[in-house]
Amino acid sequence: MNKEDTLRYIADNKILPDKNFGQNFLCDEGIIDRIIELSGAASGSKVLEIGPGCGALTDRFVDMGAKITAVEIDKRLNEHLLNRFNGKDIDIICSDYLKLNDYEADRFEYAVSNIPYYVMTPIMIKLMTDLTSCKKMTFMVEEAAISRIMAQPGSKQYGPLAVMCSCFGKVSKELVVPGASFIPPPHTTSAVITLTREEGIPSSGFASFLDKCFSQRRKKMTNSFPELKSVSSSMGLREDIRAEAVTPEEYRDIFINYTSSLI
Ligand code: SAM
Repeated sequence: MNKEDTLRYIADNKILPDKNFGQNFLCDEGIIDRIIELSGAASGSKVLEIGPGCGALTDRFVDMGAKITAVEIDKRLNEHLLNRFNGKDIDIICSDYLKLNDYEADRFEYAVSNIPYYVMTPIMIKLMTDLTSCKKMTFMVEEAAISRIMAQPGSKQYGPLAVMCSCFGKVSKELVVPGASFIPPPHTTSAVITLTREEGIPSSGFASFLDKCFSQRRKKMTNSFPELKSVSSSMGLREDIRAEAVTPEEYRDIFINYTSSLI
């Protein structure tokens, strides 16, 4: 649907975008086409979408014959989606994705989200942690957040999110999306990124392990996490290394050595 059609559709269905849920609906067919293309999904692919909204992206996955599961927090939109996709091959789950458990996460091959910006970090971390077989993730994010997602060791922005993304695989900034591509337009420019799996996340405890390592990012890592002393010295890391200087590869190795030292 183009902008005019989307405006009419929203009015006809009495959908009032709710700021509290970060509702900025995509209304630019060119951008929707590119996201579908970038997602890598095809007929029969198992796709998880977070925040389908009115279904701008969802509709394309249904049309191509993908096996889509869409998780939407807003009850009003859920009712709307159930009507719109009545009789179609789709699972619509009404839930806050951050509270969703037992959803057979390991079956999904692709993940897509025009992410509600206020919960971008926890949603990305949960997806990378839970979706152990996912080949590719495609996200619309605030353009300004990309410096955090792709931050390098030693920089101010470097933290658990950048380490997780880098460990997951290849991170690419694909395209910049102006505010005019949404209804209502957000205040900032957006961008589409893809994460293509290479090694993936070592295991489910990785995110909380990183949070602990970064809890005092400028101090010696072993101050905030003394249990790492013997692991990091056996790996030949400097005793005074700070969390912000440890590379994603080193974090992976420290985590694997640390968890096996607990057994
Ligand atoms: N995918 C639609 C599109 O591109 O037009 C809507 C995108 S809108 C930016 C974000 C959507 O995520 C909204 O529909 C919002 O209600 C939903 N949402 C917000 N927080 C959520 C959460 N924690 N779990 C699931 N959905 C959420």
